[in-house]
Amino acid sequence: MPSTLAPTIGVLAMQGDIREHLAALERLGTRAVRVRRPAELAAVDALVFPGGESTTMDKLLRAFDLFEPLRDRLAAGMPAYGSCAGMILLAKRILDGTQDQQTLGALDVTVRRNAFGRQVDSFEEDIVAPALGAGPQDRPMRAAFIRAPWVEDAGPGVEVLARVSTGPAAGRIVAVREGAVMATAFHPELGADPRVHAAFVRLVRDRLSSER
Ligand code: GLN
Repeated sequence: MPSTLAPTIGVLAMQGDIREHLAALERLGTRAVRVRRPAELAAVDALVFPGGESTTMDKLLRAFDLFEPLRDRLAAGMPAYGSCAGMILLAKRILDGTQDQQTLGALDVTVRRNAFGRQVDSFEEDIVAPALGAGPQDRPMRAAFIRAPWVEDAGPGVEVLARVSTGPAAGRIVAVREGAVMATAFHPELGADPRVHAAFVRLVRDRLSSER
């Protein structure tokens, strides 16, 4: 039986910054485990899709027979959070993907891969994200972007959680939530700011307690 007090949250362990997400989740008092096989997926309450390379993860998901089970769990309402490549995997539509790249289609958004362009492969930026506890009066949220996507457009059921606040990409959507699925174009797992993971853990706990 899942425990609402200490949910078990999986981190998809194909490729990418798996360890950093496990550590961020453990710091928040959840049980965090790697998910590589269908049986491991069946044992978690929720799943994090790490940053890395979405095209590689897409191929590995199919090689590990996880693609269909993941689609099924997401369609059945499993809470999920994706950072960067994870956001791409969760999206319904991709721009600038590779030709055969597939996604799991859990978020009604169009993401543009590598959207910020080559001259700014990596950068950090303060973002405005009131729903994540980073509004104008709060401590600013520093976000790391690494060959990041952005959300080009979002369907009516999608809540925008954060936008880039300055520079040429100002106004671009970089964090979203739709139902129990959250995604960020940036990598909170690489910094010490717990607010994004904490918001996800709250969402997981709320979902589990309302299912009881
Ligand atoms: N550019 C990568 C991709 O497609 C994402 C980069 C990241 O996760 N840091 O998938």
